[in-house]
Amino acid sequence: MAGGAYIAIALGFALGGGVVGKIKGSSFWLWFLISGAVPVIGLLAALCFRSERDELRRQCPTCGRVCKLHDALCVRCGTELEFPDEALASESEAPALR
Ligand SMILES: [Zn+2]
Repeated sequence: MAGGAYIAIALGFALGGGVVGKIKGSSFWLWFLISGAVPVIGLLAALCFRSERDELRRQCPTCGRVCKLHDALCVRCGTELEFPDEALASESEAPALR
């Protein structure tokens, strides 16, 4: 009976992860499979993926690459990034900048 309970729990997490993934504009089935394979971690990953997209961004003063606000170095040119006075809108708020 323990196996049946585990499958029920895994299926619940899979559905939750799939719905979260779908809401974020990602694939329902991708997150359904991830959350079903690794129930708790998969659902957490789906939730974290969303917060990454909502992260505020800023532009590198040297090469102009758009980086995450919390990045200390530019991933393209390696410029050390000061904490900016103005942040760019997050990816989910400004899809045109992506
Ligand atoms: Zn740069």
